[in-house]
Amino acid sequence: MRRLLLALPFALLPLAIAQAASHDHDHDEPGHVEGGSLDAHEHGAAQLNALLDGQRLELELESPAMNLVGFEHAPSSAADRAKVAAVRRQLGQPQELFGLAAGDCVVATQELESALFETEQHDASEHSEIHAHYRLDCQQPGELQQLDLSELFKRFPATEKIQVQLIGPNGQQGVELTPAKATLDF
Ligand SMILES: [Zn+2]
Repeated sequence: MRRLLLALPFALLPLAIAQAASHDHDHDEPGHVEGGSLDAHEHGAAQLNALLDGQRLELELESPAMNLVGFEHAPSSAADRAKVAAVRRQLGQPQELFGLAAGDCVVATQELESALFETEQHDASEHSEIHAHYRLDCQQPGELQQLDLSELFKRFPATEKIQVQLIGPNGQQGVELTPAKATLDF
């Protein structure tokens, strides 16, 4: 059962596949859209996958950069770069963003990926996304009652809805969270 649970998320999560496809995508090649990935990029909408397995909590957030930064072009001014840096700092605080004060969790690893974080320039007309992947170790996972995205919605008000897939002690749930309904029980 444990092995099955561990294997599930990456089979279930279309994000991992979409992410891999977008990374393989040749930006200079026109008219080549794999798997309808443009449909998945809707400004205002984001996706969050969460897995709580024993003391391990994994979170994977995929969002149009527009929702978090307010633009998707390569940073071209000092103000742009400052904005991107501020967003990176905020994304480095998953306990605050996802309402994880309980559970005695510490961040074991985190990865923040976006074309906006790279120095290499990209096509100005291209959409950009931000991908954040966190792994937390929670000493008291039984005290984790819920995900609470209130702080995320507050800090990034251009984010209107987040499609959440959660796998926890009570099984799998798929729910759309909004500023008006920002919590989901584990
Ligand atoms: Zn976009």
